[in-house]
Amino acid sequence: MKAPAFDYVKPSSLAQVFSLLETHGDDARIIAGGQSLLATLNMRLSEPQLLLDINAIPGLSGITLHSDCVQIGALTRHCDIEDSALIAEHVPLLAMAAPFVAHRAIRNRGTLGGSIAFADPAAEWPTCAVALDASIVLASRSGERRVKAKDFFQDLYTTAMEPGEIVTACEFPLQPRAMRFAFDELARRRGDYAIVGLAASGQFADGLLRQVRLVFLGTGNIPLRARAAETAIEGKSLNADTFEAARTALATELHPAADLYHSAEAKQHLASVLMRRLLQRLAA
Ligand SMILES: Cc1cc2nc3c(=O)[nH]c(=O)nc-3n(C[C@H](O)[C@H](O)[C@H](O)COP(=O)(O)OP(=O)(O)OC[C@H]3O[C@@H](n4cnc5c(N)ncnc54)[C@H](O)[C@@H]3O)c2cc1C
Repeated sequence: MKAPAFDYVKPSSLAQVFSLLETHGDDARIIAGGQSLLATLNMRLSEPQLLLDINAIPGLSGITLHSDCVQIGALTRHCDIEDSALIAEHVPLLAMAAPFVAHRAIRNRGTLGGSIAFADPAAEWPTCAVALDASIVLASRSGERRVKAKDFFQDLYTTAMEPGEIVTACEFPLQPRAMRFAFDELARRRGDYAIVGLAASGQFADGLLRQVRLVFLGTGNIPLRARAAETAIEGKSLNADTFEAARTALATELHPAADLYHSAEAKQHLASVLMRRLLQRLAA
């Protein structure tokens, strides 16, 4: 199928974007990398009358180290996060997750802000944002506000973004040096959206895992923090009893829906396999 007809503008300032959003409301749609939007247009899942291309707006792209966070502009491409030495050093979880975002050709165009705004439940960046307690920076005609990732993702493809707002950046707090990170996912083929994925972090000392955080993707409508499993692992050494306690706890809080290829039970099983694998990595 082909996309329905639409008008196209390429504003050169945020002020212009805000005024076009105000004038056109729901009929206007931001386009950043186009890697999700164009597919929805071609499938006629979405029929905006106006596309607002934000690629010419200065200041929306780039990775900056601040005293308390790393700020990544909304227009920063997935590949720039993947290739960044600054990200590898200061936000290693993002460097670990980047190669799982689609294929390199898509990563060359797709943007961080687009992925955050789209809020696909199987996407890597929303999950990492929740895992790292990131803040989403939103701008509108009335100014700027920050929303914690845990509050930003509200439901399937639904976020806390209000009409007239756009994502301008994400801020990832600097983590303690002792924090360890692991990311992995299970997919039918490399580059496909994951069946189940997991961002894990924790500190490992004296044979014990502490401050464990587990955030799953692909198992619900939004990134899911597995607090019961975290509690089962906190301060424990990794042995068969701990794994079993974590697996049992996880089953009480993860309720994945079956998809075309996998039953809910299979997804649940894969989630616990992934959890065990990543906990072992954190403790290695
Ligand atoms: C074959 C294929 C496989 C893929 N696999 C994966 C995968 O495994 N993991 C993954 O995470 N993604 C995957 N993607 C999606 C890809 O990562 C997209 O790049 C990303 O989801 C959206 O970013 P974008 O810049 O392309 O956004 P666009 O497609 O331009 O926009 C997506 C949506 O976000 C809105 N939007 C964009 N930028 C902003 C902004 N700054 N403020 C407010 N709203 C905005 C748009 O209006 C639109 O509704 C895949 C895509 C394809 C085509």
